[in-house]
Amino acid sequence: MEAVAIFDAPGKGRGLKATKEMWAGDVVFSEAGLAAVVFDSMAERICHSCFRSQPKLQRCGQCRFAHYCDRTCQRAGWAEHKDECGAIKTYGKAPNESVRLTARIVWRLDKEGSLVTDTQLTTVEDLEDHIFGMPDDDLQEIKVDIHNFLDYWPRNSKQHRVDDLSHIFGVVNCNGFTVSDQKGLQAVGVGLFPNLCLVNHDCWPNCTVILNHGNQSAVNTMFHSQPRIELRALGKISEGEELTVSYVDYLNVSEDRQKLLKAQYFFDCTCDHCKNHTKDDVKMAGKEVDGVKVPEEQVKEASDYCRVTLEKINKSRLSGDYHEVVVMCRDCMKRAEPVLAETHIYLLKLWSTLSEVQAYLQFIDDAADLSRKVVEGYNKIYHPNNAALGLATMRSGVSHWQAGLIDVGHGMICKAYAILMVTHGPTHPITQDLEAMRMQTEMEFRMFTQNEYVYHSMREAALKNRPMTMMNEPVSVQDGIKNLFHRRK
Ligand SMILES: [Zn+2]
Ligand SMILES: [Zn+2]
Ligand SMILES: [Zn+2]
Repeated sequence: MEAVAIFDAPGKGRGLKATKEMWAGDVVFSEAGLAAVVFDSMAERICHSCFRSQPKLQRCGQCRFAHYCDRTCQRAGWAEHKDECGAIKTYGKAPNESVRLTARIVWRLDKEGSLVTDTQLTTVEDLEDHIFGMPDDDLQEIKVDIHNFLDYWPRNSKQHRVDDLSHIFGVVNCNGFTVSDQKGLQAVGVGLFPNLCLVNHDCWPNCTVILNHGNQSAVNTMFHSQPRIELRALGKISEGEELTVSYVDYLNVSEDRQKLLKAQYFFDCTCDHCKNHTKDDVKMAGKEVDGVKVPEEQVKEASDYCRVTLEKINKSRLSGDYHEVVVMCRDCMKRAEPVLAETHIYLLKLWSTLSEVQAYLQFIDDAADLSRKVVEGYNKIYHPNNAALGLATMRSGVSHWQAGLIDVGHGMICKAYAILMVTHGPTHPITQDLEAMRMQTEMEFRMFTQNEYVYHSMREAALKNRPMTMMNEPVSVQDGIKNLFHRRK
């Protein structure tokens, strides 16, 4: 932790600042979770030790709740699961993820003291819980959780005061970090990373955070099988500068970002982009035809229509009704495209939703076309090293490659690789997939420029081996990226 120090960030409480100059892609710090658990809904599909998604998992014979890839993962996860296993057996079932996570935190702190590693900059006790001023609904949920916790907590373990427990539930409620699967495409659990909790929000941040499970063999030899996060610099950071990440997607106008931040994290964002409403005009812009702008009322009407329709589309997407998604997107696009600019965020959301669904349904030409428009829009909105921009560029590159547009495809895959080297780093499984694709498309591109006929026959063979990244259901692709911190629904 020699690159960072705690300081009093004006108006924001504690924060972290850089103690030396850093550059794009530098790992500011890496941190193992204090504790992490698999979501209730994923308990049988995700390994409780390495958080990988696996088609076939083995169940813990004792509690019949925890699932593991194999004996090696079970052994690696035993230190975290031992107390939990006994408690679940006695309680008769597994409590919800918040209770399980809080219990794992308390067991760990009881055993190892309030600082479990020498790189931990803050105790859990010193983290903000936002209990004061929390909406009644949230407080009520915490009350129920504490009630269940006390039933679940073993009688012969050290007992804790309700105030101390409600503090930890409060911390988990606003700072529980979303844990994704090995590819970072699906949200599978929630964990607590104390140092990361100290990094304040900025809508235009200088860092990004990424979960990296490392490679399988490294996991196997670790005593604690906790997932690790990396805080990575997005560009040059000067000595003394505050380190920030964004808790919300920049693909919202400043007013909406501020509402989200207030509702979920209980603060008013005063970052430069919010104060100056930076890029709000671009994100809500109307179309210009031959230098003539579409009247403002029409733009507003189309925007409102899109916002309402997008909610319906999202519902159909979540329930897997992809045919309905295609019909609704097409219909909405017919109304929106003549009126809204190509950087309008609702139009971009329509295109990206339809493109993901079409890629999944194997309508590759359509997916490629739409995804290129999405990337062009994103390029005008996002920071050049934004992870969502990198992933969208990757998906578009793969679609173009699959559609036989090797020159555009290869170019985009190279561009995505450059971004992900900064946001995900060279050892992340997605970056490694991309590197393999980059080499493959480079070879194909060379062949294409030399002899088109040979290229096309070879492509047929290569396409039988479709890249795995495209085969995920569209719903999972979005989830892992958008929510930095896990919020209950
Ligand atoms: Zn495993
Ligand atoms: Zn067990
Ligand atoms: Zn802001």
